[in-house]
Amino acid sequence: MDRLFLSPPHMSGKEQAYIAEVFASNYIAPIGEFLDRFESLICEYTGVRHALALSSATAGLHLALRVLGIGEGDYVLASTFTFIGSVDAILYERAKPLFVDSDESWNLSPALLREAIATAPQKPKALILTHLYGQMAQIDEIASICKAEGIYLIEDAAESLGASFGGQKSGTFGDIGVYSFNGNKILTTSGGGMLISDHADWISRARFLATQAKEPCIYYEHREIGYNYRMSNLLAAVGVAQMEVLEERVMQKRAVFDWYREALRDVDGITWMPEISGSRGNRWLTTLTFDAIDPIRIIDALEAENIECRPLWKPMHLQPLFEDALSVTDGTSQRLFEKGLCLPSGSAMQKKDVERVCGIIRGTMR
Ligand SMILES: *Cc1c(COP(=O)(O)O)cnc(C)c1O
Repeated sequence: MDRLFLSPPHMSGKEQAYIAEVFASNYIAPIGEFLDRFESLICEYTGVRHALALSSATAGLHLALRVLGIGEGDYVLASTFTFIGSVDAILYERAKPLFVDSDESWNLSPALLREAIATAPQKPKALILTHLYGQMAQIDEIASICKAEGIYLIEDAAESLGASFGGQKSGTFGDIGVYSFNGNKILTTSGGGMLISDHADWISRARFLATQAKEPCIYYEHREIGYNYRMSNLLAAVGVAQMEVLEERVMQKRAVFDWYREALRDVDGITWMPEISGSRGNRWLTTLTFDAIDPIRIIDALEAENIECRPLWKPMHLQPLFEDALSVTDGTSQRLFEKGLCLPSGSAMQKKDVERVCGIIRGTMR
């Protein structure tokens, strides 16, 4: 049987036609009509005024720190339970991460955030908040803490495009939001990212930095460090086709989660990642924890059947890279990491695929 992947790309069918249009125009790169269309579609969808298409979300988070003026020695609060791409940029800028643990929502704990702010050696300048696995964090409370404390809020919405809280889209609550179009995300351009903000000056400065910080002269004049971070027009054509099916993909991911929950309804000792009240997650990945069994046994059993399954993210405060970093933790994310798994969650999965995975899980738990 073909390998069942965790979250493989799922094309809409329109991508090749749009790519053909790009080839016909020869605006393969750098800029072109599809880049503008992709950015406009994101603005329309989110209600945010400005968007910048980039080569990755990691690049987007880096630009976010640059435009907010965060640099050497500054403290940046961050979810510890996340993927490394969330926080790499803190190190690029020689700033200092201050990691904050999760609560029962699996996402950042507002109570521990308050504690981190109160005990930080100096006032943190920003928070990078992840909406994990496409499920919304307590964004209303977290946003109001940041506002009251004068701390910039950067939403790492790399996994949560299509999720919302109180009807408002993930990525739009803070000062800056970032989406990813990496190959395993709910939508993909093979690789890519998007920076969004209502602040026109931040997005135009990010655009400048993302294009080698080339001064507006007829010759090549440079005053500061820039990057080559833009998305190509060719990949933006893929992005436009993907945006057209976003809502469908969210419904498919949510259906996959519902099938899993239904198929394992009578199994004791498992807990699904919650969906906080008032929110709609995109269920990018179906994730769960096991009370008693070592999840590695499930991974091995699925692997033997050519099915991909992964542990949850290993928290940042437990990474050798961040040995010396400060953190405010209470063991929650460590426990989730030790007990949890991500199940195959492709939006093109069929109910029978989900049932096959569940049969193997049951067999291993017996
Ligand atoms: C995927 C991911 C990123 C990085 O996205 P890229 O586009 O691959 O750079 C950052 N943060 C989180 C939470 C992610 O899942």
